[in-house]
Amino acid sequence: MDKKEAKVRISVLRKTLEKHRFLYHVKDAPIILDEAYDTLLNELDNLEKKYPEFDNPMSPTHRVGGTPIDHFEKVRHTIPQWSFDNVFDFEGLQNWEERNITILKKAEINKSPTYVTEMKIDGLKIILTYEKGILVRGATRGDGEIGEDITENVKTIKSIPLILPEEISMTVIGEAWMKKKDLEKINKERAKNEMALYANTRNLTAGTLRQLDPKIVASRNIQLFAYDIEGLKVKSQEKELELLERFGFLVNDDRKYCKNLKEVQTFYDKWKNKRLNENYGIDGLVIKINERDIWDELGYTAKSPRGGIAYKFPAEVVVTKLNSITLQVGRTGAITPVAELAPVLLAGSIVKRATLHNIDEIKRLGVRVGDTVYLRKAGDVIPEIFDVMKDMRKKNAKEFVMPDKCPECESELVREKSGKELSVAFYCKNKSCPAKHLEGLIHFVSKKGLNIEELGERTVELFHDIGLITDFSSIFKLKKEDIEGLEGFGEKSADNLIKSIEKSRIVPLHRFLFALGIRHTGEQTAKDIAYHFGNFEKIRKASFEELSNVEGVGEKVAQSICEFFADAKNSQEIDLLLKELKITTEKKNIGKLNNLTFVITGTLPTLSRDEAKDLIEKNGGHVSSSVSSKTNYLLCGENAGSKYDDAVKFGTKIINEDEFKKLVK
Ligand SMILES: [Zn+2]
Repeated sequence: MDKKEAKVRISVLRKTLEKHRFLYHVKDAPIILDEAYDTLLNELDNLEKKYPEFDNPMSPTHRVGGTPIDHFEKVRHTIPQWSFDNVFDFEGLQNWEERNITILKKAEINKSPTYVTEMKIDGLKIILTYEKGILVRGATRGDGEIGEDITENVKTIKSIPLILPEEISMTVIGEAWMKKKDLEKINKERAKNEMALYANTRNLTAGTLRQLDPKIVASRNIQLFAYDIEGLKVKSQEKELELLERFGFLVNDDRKYCKNLKEVQTFYDKWKNKRLNENYGIDGLVIKINERDIWDELGYTAKSPRGGIAYKFPAEVVVTKLNSITLQVGRTGAITPVAELAPVLLAGSIVKRATLHNIDEIKRLGVRVGDTVYLRKAGDVIPEIFDVMKDMRKKNAKEFVMPDKCPECESELVREKSGKELSVAFYCKNKSCPAKHLEGLIHFVSKKGLNIEELGERTVELFHDIGLITDFSSIFKLKKEDIEGLEGFGEKSADNLIKSIEKSRIVPLHRFLFALGIRHTGEQTAKDIAYHFGNFEKIRKASFEELSNVEGVGEKVAQSICEFFADAKNSQEIDLLLKELKITTEKKNIGKLNNLTFVITGTLPTLSRDEAKDLIEKNGGHVSSSVSSKTNYLLCGENAGSKYDDAVKFGTKIINEDEFKKLVK
């Protein structure tokens, strides 16, 4: 195949793949096998690599996610992105219609509007800009005027066409969302890694689309329902949705044309309960006037278009009894009050406990032990008490008072000062509080700390209870015979645990620092400090000033680290630990291509070989003369030789000059 033929073939492949993407991801009716699709995609990928000059960032091969970025650019929307006003009942809906009809009458328009009713998906609004049929930008709504450019992430969403069947320019608005079952799956994984959980599918979607690494986004199965076009004249909302479908967008089928509000209400009643069984969160309906001329005539209020309104569903709510309030002691000593509830079924699962966050929240709710409380989960995963049935309260119910002693060690609880204000949380400041101690041990061995895989939370708890683990260093003194025969441990599992501990004896500096559980020292801070000092003893001896000088370290962090190392007990513990561990250090991060190996082949469009090599080395990368399994990238130009085939053989990532420039930008 020569260059000319390749160009034609690339174009044919892209169009074909686009058609089948639509059938598979939008219509859910594929007509070719997945394998066939993959073969075509592969062919396109190979051709684009061979002829990088024909590569296009909007080619379907780029849906897998490009290079991570360090921040999102801000974008100003050409059309302000309004949000609709809300109504909560039929009366509100009728009032909305009456207001509109009054305005129309004044303008001497005597038409009655009809409506299109769509689902209000609980997700994230996305604004897609197409120029001459090509997606050029995907942005978040932001504050309605300024959003964030998340094009690279948006490209990975398979229900969004990158190329339209016609060369038109327009803006398409839609809601990105994720499935409830994906939320469960991801939260389960995060719980294992002690990461904060996503509260609901909306947070998950927003959190995912704001990832700086498009590959993570690509792995997460985001969907998008398109519902609005700006910049094209379309007669009605109904026609607009049909047009979106024709352009290759996914449009929600659960919508209804309604001649009047009574029909809207019937649709609402049907969906009030049905929505709970859907795969996505729905928090209401959006009702839009179908006729575009009426919509335009009505115009806008200061906040939203008059022609549309959101009709919210009631959140799912149950009532239960608050049996007691218990206190949980966290690793940092922070005390969290927890509501112990009479078990109740809410959104498909039994709820027994709910966090009350802090004493201020308890006061805000005015909740007392014995109260009947409202619990809700509005599509959310974490249940919350949001109100109290005060008229059901027993006469002798007492206001909750925060105990002044730690429930675990009985030492005095204190409220810290941040500036002039007191912190909302109470803290147990006892350094040897058993609850804090246990949480600290769990943190120490966790994945981001020493990463002792076989030593899970339960096991730490068990070993701590029976006195097998007393402090960090005692973990390294564990013997197989101590463990064998304990609850859940046979010979094999005891052996595995010991092996897993042995493996953790070599630990990178930043992970060791993080594992110590120093207050305010999260994963990133630990990395920043580790890279800055490059040596544990230096960190240990660092002064407050030296620590504050580290990029990303504030005074609060510096203070906390100084206090930690100044403490005699900590010092003793660390000395013991250093006898057990080998702390390794990484090279200081000097560039974006740190520790990456490149091979250059062919003639690059603008850069000479030496210029490219210079750029790589300046950014901390390394240039090698031949491709091996250790090569990270093949920088490939025109007339590439055998290195190209080698890269394919080793599965090395092949990039062109444009992509390379993005890496070092
Ligand atoms: Zn305590």
